[in-house]
Amino acid sequence: MTDNSSDTNDWMQDLIAKSAAAKEKAYCPYSKFRVGAALLDMDGKIFTGCNVENASYPVGVCAERTAICKAVSEGCQKFKAIAIISDIDEDFISPCGFCRQAMREFQINDIVCAKSTPVNGLYKFRRHTLDELLPFSFGPEDLQRPKIGS
Ligand SMILES: [Zn+2]
Repeated sequence: MTDNSSDTNDWMQDLIAKSAAAKEKAYCPYSKFRVGAALLDMDGKIFTGCNVENASYPVGVCAERTAICKAVSEGCQKFKAIAIISDIDEDFISPCGFCRQAMREFQINDIVCAKSTPVNGLYKFRRHTLDELLPFSFGPEDLQRPKIGS
């Protein structure tokens, strides 16, 4: 984990700002917990997402997976970073287990977790690697391992 709260890196601040804008679109009448995400691909393209809840609760989708599905459906599968933001200021947002696994699938290895409100124009954030958030993870290559009886 890297606490880069004072980092003024422009691209990262821009990515967080785009996640904040996506958060404004959140559909969360049940949890009232707005989340936005912005996913940066290797070519510099950004895909945003918000959480989209459903009256049948398990059908709801998180902001991170919304962004990932948008990107993949547009032909992008290699990513540099994802920024995530909620309405919480007292701590950094943290992705749920489902989303960590979805990030694992595409090796999204720079996960930027932001606080809601910018301070002096800059978002406070904390960066994680995928391995920090999902150690000893299961991924596509595990399916290729030799299995007994085959
Ligand atoms: Zn999630």
